[in-house]
Amino acid sequence: MTKKKAIRVGHRGAARRLISKIEEELEKETTQRDEIESLCETLKKKRDILSELDSEILEEIAEENMEAEIEDSDRYVLDIERILTKVRNSSSSKQKNKSNETSSNQNLNPNAAYFVFINSTSTYEKQLLRCGGPRIDNATVGETVKFPYLLPAKDRLTHFIVLKAHENTLHSGINITLAYIQQTFWIPKLRQCVKSIVMKCVTCRKVIGKSYSAPEIPPLPKERVQDATPFSITGVVFTGALSIRNSHNEESKAYICLFTCAVTRAVHLELVYDLSEESFLLCFRRFVSRRSVPKIMMSDNALTFKAASNEI
Ligand SMILES: [Zn+2]
Repeated sequence: MTKKKAIRVGHRGAARRLISKIEEELEKETTQRDEIESLCETLKKKRDILSELDSEILEEIAEENMEAEIEDSDRYVLDIERILTKVRNSSSSKQKNKSNETSSNQNLNPNAAYFVFINSTSTYEKQLLRCGGPRIDNATVGETVKFPYLLPAKDRLTHFIVLKAHENTLHSGINITLAYIQQTFWIPKLRQCVKSIVMKCVTCRKVIGKSYSAPEIPPLPKERVQDATPFSITGVVFTGALSIRNSHNEESKAYICLFTCAVTRAVHLELVYDLSEESFLLCFRRFVSRRSVPKIMMSDNALTFKAASNEI
């Protein structure tokens, strides 16, 4: 174990020297990328050796010293990771700058992960911000899809563009509208924007909006549910006109006067030839003769019933 620790000290010293050398190289502007890359490769090998040694030592170490040992080994590994990340970031930022330069030279094929640039392919499109990344570089899609125009999230123009896209997609849902817009524009927080517009769309609300819920059904009136003799509580109504043939074989109109018991739902039908007051009173007389006088008569506000009510 003492031997392993001694070897580790040697490797840690080498790693430290490599870190300071990379830092020096990064500060120089004239440094070749290849040099830094080769230094990083050596450093990565040192990191792997150190991690292996650390785990071997940890296996043999006493439990009370474990925490201090982990802390110590982490410090070295973290130092190495920090410098490697620094190198990665500096290389990606250089590529970004490079891609911006190339885009201004009408070359829309940068390698940066994600970038924004001013398009200058034509006079008409000058000063329009476009963005993109290498993810769909090899896709057989147009340049507008690869490098969509950048729009602000909260803007009147953005609002109208989203609204138009929603209409062009025949008032489709959020996802389809979103996909349609992203073929041309890149808008930050687009989902939120689309959602708020789709939710407020009057046409969509008319089609998919929930209808008003029906009011609660009130209890049946006591006349309907309490025991009573048949036709003691009666409702009355006329049917629509029916075509009949009279005794002279002539076509004429007739109506059915329907009496119904509110409790038993039994019905009594009378045929009448018109909706006059006299006709109703005569058929009511026939009904009463057959079924006895009702205690309560219920009807709608038809003129015939009103007139008959006044007459009785
Ligand atoms: Zn809509």
